[in-house]
Amino acid sequence: MDIKTLKGIGEKTAALLNRLSVYTVEDLVGFYPRDYDVYEKPVFIRDMQECAENGIVAADVVIAGKVEVYKASRVSIAAVTVRDLNGDSLNVKWFNMPFLAHTLRAGMRCILRGTLSVKQGVLVLEQPKMYTHAEYSALMGSMQPIYPLTKGLSNKTVTKAVRQALEKYNVSLEMEFIPREIREKNNLSEHNFAAVNIHFPKSMDEYMQARKRLAFEEFFLFVLAVRTLKTSNERRSNGYPIPNDSRTDAFAAGLPFSLTNAQQRAWKEIVQDMSGGTLMSRLIQGDVGSGKTIIAVLAMLNTAFAGYQAAMMVPTEVLAKQQYESVCKMFEMHGINTGVSLLTGSMAAAKKRREYERIASGEAGIIIGTHALIQEKVQYHNLALVITDEQHRFGVNQRKEFSQKGREPHVLVMSATPIPRTLAIIIYGDLDISVIDELPADRLPVRNCVVDSSYRQRAYRFIEQQVRQGRQAYVICPMVEDSEQLEAENVTDYAQKLQKELPGDIRAACLHGKMKSSEKQAVMEAFSKGEINVLAATTVVEVGVNVPNATVMMVENADRFGLAQLHQLRGRVGRGSFQSYCIFISGTKNKKTRERLEILNKTNDGFKIAEEDLRLRGPGDFFGVRQSGDFDFGIADIYADSNTLKAAAEAAGQILEKDALLEAEEHIYLKKKVSEYTLKCLERLNL
Ligand code: ADP
Ligand code: MG
Repeated sequence: MDIKTLKGIGEKTAALLNRLSVYTVEDLVGFYPRDYDVYEKPVFIRDMQECAENGIVAADVVIAGKVEVYKASRVSIAAVTVRDLNGDSLNVKWFNMPFLAHTLRAGMRCILRGTLSVKQGVLVLEQPKMYTHAEYSALMGSMQPIYPLTKGLSNKTVTKAVRQALEKYNVSLEMEFIPREIREKNNLSEHNFAAVNIHFPKSMDEYMQARKRLAFEEFFLFVLAVRTLKTSNERRSNGYPIPNDSRTDAFAAGLPFSLTNAQQRAWKEIVQDMSGGTLMSRLIQGDVGSGKTIIAVLAMLNTAFAGYQAAMMVPTEVLAKQQYESVCKMFEMHGINTGVSLLTGSMAAAKKRREYERIASGEAGIIIGTHALIQEKVQYHNLALVITDEQHRFGVNQRKEFSQKGREPHVLVMSATPIPRTLAIIIYGDLDISVIDELPADRLPVRNCVVDSSYRQRAYRFIEQQVRQGRQAYVICPMVEDSEQLEAENVTDYAQKLQKELPGDIRAACLHGKMKSSEKQAVMEAFSKGEINVLAATTVVEVGVNVPNATVMMVENADRFGLAQLHQLRGRVGRGSFQSYCIFISGTKNKKTRERLEILNKTNDGFKIAEEDLRLRGPGDFFGVRQSGDFDFGIADIYADSNTLKAAAEAAGQILEKDALLEAEEHIYLKKKVSEYTLKCLERLNL
């Protein structure tokens, strides 16, 4: 059913919903709130700053004076002072509501709920809604859904549409597809109950029940889908047996560093796989900076020495170019004449054609690129190894497409996502896992600080000082939610301001996602060469960028980022032997947020960060900043719901043991759900 069949959804609103991948009424039912507005108990004015969750607070107050109305630029402001039982007072402001001067009287008692802000050290409650005690008690504890939105689409519109879909069309009604024994054993509510109550829970308890069922359901379908995908079951025989070549050893021995023990172990496992009887399917998991790239280079080189081709696919053009150049440089230094080819989407047509030829003829033994590597036009000569770096950004189908470009190749995926082994085994299904759990010995741990914005000037001076010592710095600019365009403008402005703050001979530049690919590459190249000293950027630098000379990572509005993301950002420094520094700027006074940021201060270990973050949030606290966007399940979170994931995997295993292809009568509907899931979700999950 098209969403336009709903009342109040016309062409325009439909187009906006489409942007959020909502096309049908059924999609809308599966469009879960990203958070809930909970009407918390009113708090005392003196406790407000600590209690403001996402900046929203309610207080039980008495109007203490006359409402003043004045104009500020083009808005009219109605301001008044209120007081609570302790006698503490608070300034309150409403915008464009001048009539309040006539309706609010000194001495009136009400509950105000609005956004708390601090203006020049003074607390202001902005645009609060007013409630009587009776009204507020009715709302207290209830949860109103907050949906992910896009510009032009209001939460009210989405909420109304979802309500209609559920009430009028009953679209959530669905045959139960999780067998009763499994539901009973795991204490799961029915699907239909969950589908409705995830949107409009009447209590926290209902919400938790709904959420648990849906998270379980998602993992359950996921595991069944992965395990029934035929390719994951059987190990194919090795059409490209590649032994270790002594020239590869010589290359490794000539590196300016010796491999860590963990790197050596991973490398040995790869050689064993590739020379053995079955094809390699391996995941290398290692924290940022643990040195995964060099392992990939060894594997590619060894493949090329055996007379085959190896391709490495990375998520961004910037990264592709960088990897390509670093490989070329290494080969040049070691007198290796294996042909290396670079392929990215934005390359000029003529240049692309030339690369296609080099790839087809086999002249290029090593090919590095973005997903341009799997375009139809690329014909490989004899592709024997495919590597995906920061693999979570690529999908199952993309891996499959590689396989279709010749005989099936060996597969190596590299990831910095810290997942405990037990979960990784479930999630990656068919992959063997090597863990690089050791950082190179020459690394000095990054020094961290979490500070408020009054520290900004000192941070700039510190950056200046580092630049004077020959080092470089990144400054990650404030995020602008849901708008790449605004974000781009923001970063551009910031870079200009930054340039003014720094002495004229220190060069600042900016980098953001909206720039043309060639511009991005030019900036990254200049930064790599040290021609740019300070790079103001969005999180485009988050993944994989390697400039070992950079020693400062300053992050504005750090509280807006997930810890996993901040950890990735921090991974951009401390990549060489210089002492590096991370400066997280955060204006928030919220206690929980500050505690969360403090975790980064305590440890540089990605696993520990994920663990601590979870502990701090506590089970059942799924909101705020998401742990990581890597495994983008609809509602489930592999960290917070790890027990549910294990239970779902176990249940799926039991079913498949008896009925491997889900052909039994009682599994007909389940089978249908699994194939729907395979089609719709596996690709989105990017596994
Ligand atoms: P990641 O695992 O995050 O992909 P990289 O492979 O980019 O990390 O490595 C980070 C930096 O560490 C690179 O500059 C690389 O040359 C260097 N490096 C890799 N292995 C070692 C090692 N054993 N000793 C010292 N430096 C190393
Ligand atoms: Mg990397």
